[in-house]
Amino acid sequence: SGLIVSFGEMLIDFVPTVSGVSLAEAPGFLKAPGGAPANVAIAVTRIGGRSAFVGKLGDDEFGHMLAGILREKGVVCEGINFDKGARTALAFVTLRADGEREFMFYRNPSADMLLKPEELNLELIRSAKAFHYGSISLIVEPCRSAHLKAMEVAREAGALLSYDPNLRLPLWPSAEEAREQILSIWEKSDIVKVSDVELEFLTGSDKIDDETALTLWRPSIKLLLVTLGEKGCRYYTKDFRGAVDSFHVKTVDTTGAGDSFVGALLSKIVDDHSIIEDEVRLREVLRFANACGAITTTKKGAIPALPTEEDALRLIRENH
Ligand code: ATP
Repeated sequence: SGLIVSFGEMLIDFVPTVSGVSLAEAPGFLKAPGGAPANVAIAVTRIGGRSAFVGKLGDDEFGHMLAGILREKGVVCEGINFDKGARTALAFVTLRADGEREFMFYRNPSADMLLKPEELNLELIRSAKAFHYGSISLIVEPCRSAHLKAMEVAREAGALLSYDPNLRLPLWPSAEEAREQILSIWEKSDIVKVSDVELEFLTGSDKIDDETALTLWRPSIKLLLVTLGEKGCRYYTKDFRGAVDSFHVKTVDTTGAGDSFVGALLSKIVDDHSIIEDEVRLREVLRFANACGAITTTKKGAIPALPTEEDALRLIRENH
């Protein structure tokens, strides 16, 4: 199957060993590999697809540990650079009372932010059938220029461009800057996926409906998706729109659900981009992506919870 190249950050989340405590109260932390683009790359291979990760890690124990995890999961690592000076990014993560995650980042600057355009493995990017990215790599130079160049090269090579902003507001200088920069590559993306929280942030409207979603619509977009947690997702194309329900599961940790959803979606359309234009086939793919997202919430952490194709098909069969 076609190669899916995922571009951006990979880092280590430090997660309290007990839940419901503040960072200061936490008695200890567990390392959890993360970074949305890296999660997407692993979600793809877990389902049986082919993926590569492009980004920069610190030339330190954590950086080599993360690259080792990607390699072990079957992700092509020829697009990874190691920075001699800067450290691999870290984030301390707590779950707030309302279930949303809160992040405290150590990036001063971290290696991922220092990827330079001239360090890109262009041959690898040119071999992509789909190219996926977020918005964290847009925040600072030189990574921002590397991100824009990689998008351009992938586009010229005929890849489908897929964008999941993954808003991390504390990393931006201001909310206005975040909104402006996140939207600056909207028109350059074929697939755009936002969560309900991001929809609200980007539009300024707390009404999660078609009217609000369509303010994010642009004629250049092939598929706009809004994910709604346990309520599934909504989809918008130039010809049709609708919603696909998710599945009832015992949710313990939603980390990585969106990345699993994106990995599943890309795996199913990478070899036939025209599925996007066929509502019946697209709905089937979104049902599969919802199943993958749902399963990812049933275990702690993102990567350990990512499903195989069999796992997702079983959940779909059980709910037929
Ligand atoms: P993340 O937590 O990775 O940032 P996200 O906010 O980008 O995720 P979500 O909307 O939480 O994305 O989840 C993506 C998809 O996963 C949803 O569209 C849905 O299909 C599935 N999903 C997420 N949470 C649940 C849940 N509690 N029950 C069932 N399905 C879920």
